[in-house]
Amino acid sequence: MTSTHISDLAAILGREDAVLVDPQMVERLSKDFYWYSPVLKILLEDKRAEAVVQPRSREEIQNVLRYCFDKGIPVTTRGSGTGNYGQAVPLDGGVVIDLAPMDRILTIEPSGVAVCEPGARLIAIENEARKVGWELRCYPSTYVKASIGGFLGGGSGGIGSITYGGLRDNQTVQGIELLTMEKEPRFIRFEGEEVHQILHSWGTNGIITEVRLALGPKRDWAQLVVAFASYDTAYTFAEKIANDAPTSKRLVTVFEWPIPSYFTPIQRFCPTRQSLVFFLVDDPALPDVVRRADLAGGTVAFSQPHTEPRKGPLLTDYTWNHTTLWALKTAPDLTYLQCGFNPDSARQQFRLLRERFGTDFLFHIEFVKNDRDRIIPAGLPIVRFKDEDYLNDMIDYCREIGVSVANPHVNQVEGGGRFRSDNIQLQAKYRYDPCGLLNPGKIATFSPEDTTAAQK
Ligand SMILES: Cc1cc2nc3c(=O)[nH]c(=O)nc-3n(C[C@H](O)[C@H](O)[C@H](O)COP(=O)(O)OP(=O)(O)OC[C@H]3O[C@@H](n4cnc5c(N)ncnc54)[C@H](O)[C@@H]3O)c2cc1C
Repeated sequence: MTSTHISDLAAILGREDAVLVDPQMVERLSKDFYWYSPVLKILLEDKRAEAVVQPRSREEIQNVLRYCFDKGIPVTTRGSGTGNYGQAVPLDGGVVIDLAPMDRILTIEPSGVAVCEPGARLIAIENEARKVGWELRCYPSTYVKASIGGFLGGGSGGIGSITYGGLRDNQTVQGIELLTMEKEPRFIRFEGEEVHQILHSWGTNGIITEVRLALGPKRDWAQLVVAFASYDTAYTFAEKIANDAPTSKRLVTVFEWPIPSYFTPIQRFCPTRQSLVFFLVDDPALPDVVRRADLAGGTVAFSQPHTEPRKGPLLTDYTWNHTTLWALKTAPDLTYLQCGFNPDSARQQFRLLRERFGTDFLFHIEFVKNDRDRIIPAGLPIVRFKDEDYLNDMIDYCREIGVSVANPHVNQVEGGGRFRSDNIQLQAKYRYDPCGLLNPGKIATFSPEDTTAAQK
């Protein structure tokens, strides 16, 4: 990019300070949490944009895209930059569009649908929704920082997925407004099943400018930690509660020892050599789950009925991919995988993995509901990184024994395990970003020269 491009963009946005070129700012806003992966850490270390623009309205984004299309400048969209796979890291310089300033919640409809700008933070949506009797159906453990546009662009599910499934299930995303990357960028609305063309596409086939998100009825969540002498008994108890339909819950997580030893701020709830189960359960269900934990041989290490405002630790800060963060703080040679175990043979799969990799493969399970209403032991095992071959050996072996892996050590949508086999994200790329200027390099199977590919 030239200095003319920079001043043109500032003129288009009508504000000098809407275009950032300070190297430190550009560096910061070009990066996400890609360094979770020792593989991506090396691959993406030197990648950054040439400028960052901060539009404040959908029309301003449109004007930026029109200009960038005309000049052939690559554009990478950023929400809050909490993605894990370098999703928001520009591979080819150009412009990062930072949508954090576009963070308005436009309305919470009485039927339980939040209508938001893309930069709206999930915590803000949760707080606004709760005021009128609703709450998020599912959210990542980064919900304090993460934006709704980034969650749709790069996330998959999280806290709440035990009840509502992943973000792409149960019509949780009801509608998307998308801006295309063409000579004359268009706003297009997607509803119902159409949204799957855009979800988890890493901003490669359009920029999400508005979201309609279905909510769930608000509940008062109690927190509970139960400790067990063995991983087996912890898993069995968690599985029982996860499958117990009458018990409303938002979180059922299992950690085998020594994972809890990484949770420095809450060591008082993490008895030595015990495997732990973390729960968020509906407040009225708490006494019953405590009683059942006792019968199952567990020890309640922490129990907190719902309080507003909440006091003390927030258990979700240790779950989902926050678990990996705590592990990395303790032992930098650790990393993670994203796995789906088979609910019918998970114990056998655990045993085989232990036999093959010993404690280089530690179990962290997050129970979720799948799109067929089945409770699945998914999880983000903590694994020791020796080299890439060893990591790939773990991934291959998981797949060989029927454990699905969404590989978090690749930087392309296709490799991450959420690419649709019916190719609709790719087809949308050909339709809405025909020159491949949006987040270039992140859809490996896209080729702007292939004029027939859009039909495939
Ligand atoms: C500690 C930790 C824990 C995490 N836990 C979870 C978890 O529980 N569940 C989960 O799913 N993920 C998790 N993640 C990943 C990440 O936090 C979530 O996916 C989050 O929702 C991303 O939001 P963001 O605003 O930071 O997006 P960004 O990182 O800014 O962007 C993510 C992707 O979406 C694209 N994008 C951003 N905005 C738009 C837009 N408006 N239109 C089109 N594309 C866009 C970006 O280009 C990028 O490809 C975790 C990450 C960390 C570091």
